[in-house]
Amino acid sequence: MPNDAFDHDVLVMGAGIAGLAAATACAAAGLRTAVAGTGLFGGLVLNVNDLVEPPRPDQASGADYAATLFGEAMEAGAEPIDGPVATLWRDGAGFAARPEEEPGRVLRARAVICATGASPRPLPVPGAGAFAHRGIAHCADCDGPLHRGRPVVVVGGGDAALQGALTLAAWASEVHVLLRGAAPRARAEFVARAAAEPRIRLHRNAEILRLLGEDGLEAVEVREGAGAPLRIAARAVFPWIGLMPNTAALPAEVTRDADGAVVVDAALRTSLPGLFAAGAVRAGHGGRLRHALHDGEGAARGVIAMLTTGAAA
Ligand SMILES: Cc1cc2nc3c(=O)[nH]c(=O)nc-3n(C[C@H](O)[C@H](O)[C@H](O)COP(=O)(O)OP(=O)(O)OC[C@H]3O[C@@H](n4cnc5c(N)ncnc54)[C@H](O)[C@@H]3O)c2cc1C
Repeated sequence: MPNDAFDHDVLVMGAGIAGLAAATACAAAGLRTAVAGTGLFGGLVLNVNDLVEPPRPDQASGADYAATLFGEAMEAGAEPIDGPVATLWRDGAGFAARPEEEPGRVLRARAVICATGASPRPLPVPGAGAFAHRGIAHCADCDGPLHRGRPVVVVGGGDAALQGALTLAAWASEVHVLLRGAAPRARAEFVARAAAEPRIRLHRNAEILRLLGEDGLEAVEVREGAGAPLRIAARAVFPWIGLMPNTAALPAEVTRDADGAVVVDAALRTSLPGLFAAGAVRAGHGGRLRHALHDGEGAARGVIAMLTTGAAA
């Protein structure tokens, strides 16, 4: 039941797939729901044109799928808050949050679902910062066409890395994939397709040592196995070496694991009563869209039960 001390029953932090799914379910259940971060909704798959296992098979593009989920959240009655949440804190029996783009405003909610996702891990190479936006890129579909007929480097051997390499092979002259170990960890289908793609070359037991270039990236220096460092010409490097959970806005007392992901129980409750976490921000996230969707809906069920029946937070 509504409580007038709070402007919202639930605040959803994050308008990626988990957050939009959570916001729709909460609003459809009649909760006064705000969802923050809608100015740039969609999260990690926003720029992926050809989704693997799209949750709705008729929507293969991440942007289309996210737009559908956003439309559903708005139709259900969720209130969009453009910018991200800068800080969240405990406020009496609920929570208060300050939106980054409206420093004078405080949002008050009885419960919060944190669905702030994760960001690509930066390349751990000295001086890499100087190549941000001048050679380092994270979006194969957006940046690939800029490198038509030129060599590029992908760092990583998981699903995101090989999915990106396969996309880049449509434009680049060569796609050098630097694997930390002896074999890619990606799904068998990606590994087989990469092996059959003449423009993709896998470098095993490879470590990237330096980025080289005067006016933008020209080459990377790599050590492959125990060999001497070698230079690979490259106009862009795409690091897909894992993700870092986005938890900066959460109170310090929320328990995180060694990787910084929010620890939850089976009902997606965090260590702070009333705060739930869903999707890529939480420890144990399955890693795919369907998991984020499932989490968003699950966290919403937990909040609805807590607010309507008084079930333990
Ligand atoms: C390159 C790549 C390709 C992928 N391709 C596929 C695929 O084809 N198929 C598949 O099933 N899975 C794919 N995945 C995995 C999938 O993207 C994730 O499982 C899913 O997007 C996680 O959704 P999420 O909502 O939890 O997090 P995110 O997608 O990270 O969304 C979180 C959102 O919250 C926002 N945010 C961050 N901090 C705040 C804050 N303080 N306040 C408010 N908002 C905030 C972020 O900006 C973001 O918009 C891919 C992943 C990557 C990295």
